[in-house]
Amino acid sequence: MVVELFESLLPKLSRGATITTDPLSRWSTYKAPNAAVTVNVTSELDVATTVRFCNEHGFTFLAQNGGSGWATFPGTKDLVIINLSNLNSVVLAADKTTAVIGGGARVYETITAADSADVLVLTGNCNGVGVLGALLGGGYGNLMGKIGGMGVDSILELRAVTADGAMRTINASQEPDLFWAMRGAGPNFGVVTSATVKACPTQKDKRIAWSGALIYTEDKLEQVVEAIQNIELIPHAVCFMYYGSSGPSNHVPVIIVTLWLFQGTPESGKASFKPLFDIGPVMDTTSILPYTEWNTSANPFCTHAERKPVFTAGLDKLDPKAWREVWNKYVEFQKLPTAHASAVLLEAYPNIELDAARTPLASFPHRAVRFQAAILTWYTDEQLDKAAVKCGKEIREVWRKSNGRDFNASYVNFAHGDEPLEEIYGDSLPRLRELKRKWDPEDRFNQWFNIQ
Ligand SMILES: Cc1cc2nc3c(=O)[nH]c(=O)nc-3n(C[C@H](O)[C@H](O)[C@H](O)COP(=O)(O)OP(=O)(O)OC[C@H]3O[C@@H](n4cnc5c(N)ncnc54)[C@H](O)[C@@H]3O)c2cc1C
Repeated sequence: MVVELFESLLPKLSRGATITTDPLSRWSTYKAPNAAVTVNVTSELDVATTVRFCNEHGFTFLAQNGGSGWATFPGTKDLVIINLSNLNSVVLAADKTTAVIGGGARVYETITAADSADVLVLTGNCNGVGVLGALLGGGYGNLMGKIGGMGVDSILELRAVTADGAMRTINASQEPDLFWAMRGAGPNFGVVTSATVKACPTQKDKRIAWSGALIYTEDKLEQVVEAIQNIELIPHAVCFMYYGSSGPSNHVPVIIVTLWLFQGTPESGKASFKPLFDIGPVMDTTSILPYTEWNTSANPFCTHAERKPVFTAGLDKLDPKAWREVWNKYVEFQKLPTAHASAVLLEAYPNIELDAARTPLASFPHRAVRFQAAILTWYTDEQLDKAAVKCGKEIREVWRKSNGRDFNASYVNFAHGDEPLEEIYGDSLPRLRELKRKWDPEDRFNQWFNIQ
C-alpha cells in the first residue's frame, strides 16, 4: 500500500532518484528507524517534493545521512527515509576560505575533497559519520582549535527544506532565528541539503598531525584518568581514552589513550602529553600522519550493523574511583558472548576561548562541558539487550554522581534517547520550543529528540 502510493511520487522526482523498500544500513540496529520505504533523492528539489508528498499523505519522514545516529528511534510504523547520500558534493570557493558541503556527504569523502583542494575543514573524527549529521548537533572534531569553535560555529549558511516543504537559505541575516535553532537542534527544523562552512587554506606539508595510541594495562587506570584530568589541552591538541578489547582471540580489556597534536613532532607530542608517557604505556603507536589518515585507526569503530545501545554523560571533572567502578562494570559486560567489541569512551577536547560569548549565537548548549563520556555496548545477540541497557544506565549514573550535577548535560549526538529534553537542549530549550511552534507547528520533524 505504502509502496504503491510512493510510485506516484517517483515520476515527480529527478532522473536518477529511486524509491526502494530495501533498508539502508545503520551503525546500530538497536531501536533503529522502522523504514517502510526509502526515497533516494538526487537534488534539493527531490527533498522538497518528498517532504510535501509526505505531508499531503500523512507519512512521517526522517532524513538519513551517515546512518551513525545511535539514539533510539520512536518505532514509528511506515516511516519514510529520505536518503541524502547522493547529495555528497564538496565544493570549495575560489579563495578556499569556505566550502559548500552536501547534506549527504560523509567525513571521509569531505576530507578527501578538502585535501585535494589544499584546505582543512572541521568534521567529526570518524570516516563513516555524516558531516552534517554531526555538525547540526554541535560537531566535535580535531580541528576545533584551528577553526576556532565547534562544528556549529563553522557553519556560515544552510540550505534546507523546512516542514512546509519550502527550500530556504538560512544565515545570520536571512531567517536568523532558524539559523540559531538549527545549529544545535538542526534535525528538529529541516532537512539540510547543503551547508557553507569555514575552510582553512593549508599547504600539504602543514596538513599533518602527530597522532597514535598508547596502551596501558588496567593497573594504571587511576593514573591515566588523573593525568587526563590534569592535562591542559592547548587548542591544537585532543586526547581520548577508551576501555576496549586488545583484539582476538581472547579480547583482554585494556586501556587505550589516543593522542592528536596538529603539526606536532615526536618531540612536541611527547612534551605535550608527558604525564601520560611517564605512566609507562606497554605500547606506543604514535607517528606523523597526513590529514587523510587522521581517522584511519578508528575505521573499525565506524562499522555498520550489530546492536550498540550507547549511554553518555558530559563531565566537568574526572574521578578515578568512579572510572574504576565503570571499568568493573564494563569488564563484566564485555566478557558476555558476542560483546567483546563494547567500549567505554572518554573524549577531552581543548577548551576553546570565547565559549561563553558564542552561546547566544547558536542553540548548542553545554559549551562548558570538559569531557564527553560514553559506554558503547556492542553485540549481536538480541538477548543481551536487557543486560546492555542495565549496564549502560548504571555506568551513566556512576558518571552523574561523580560529577556532582543533578543531570548529565548530554551531547545530543551522543545521547541514548531516554534523557529529558532539558538535559539535551539545556538553557536553549524554551526558545527552541517557541521556534518549533513557529517553524514546525505540525511537528513533522519528530524522530530525533523531538522538541515539543
Ligand atoms: C563511529 C562514530 C563516530 C562519531 N564521531 C563523532 C565525532 O567525531 N564528533 C561528533 O560530534 N560526533 C560524532 N559521532 C556522533 C555523531 O555526530 C552522531 O551519531 C550523528 O547523529 C551522526 O550523523 P549521521 O548523519 O552519520 O547519522 P544519521 O543517523 O543519518 O543522522 C542522525 C540524525 O541527524 C539527522 N540528519 C542527518 N543529516 C541531516 C541533514 N543533512 N539535515 C537534517 N538532519 C539530518 C537525521 O535525520 C537523524 O535524526 C560519532 C558517531 C559514531 C557512530
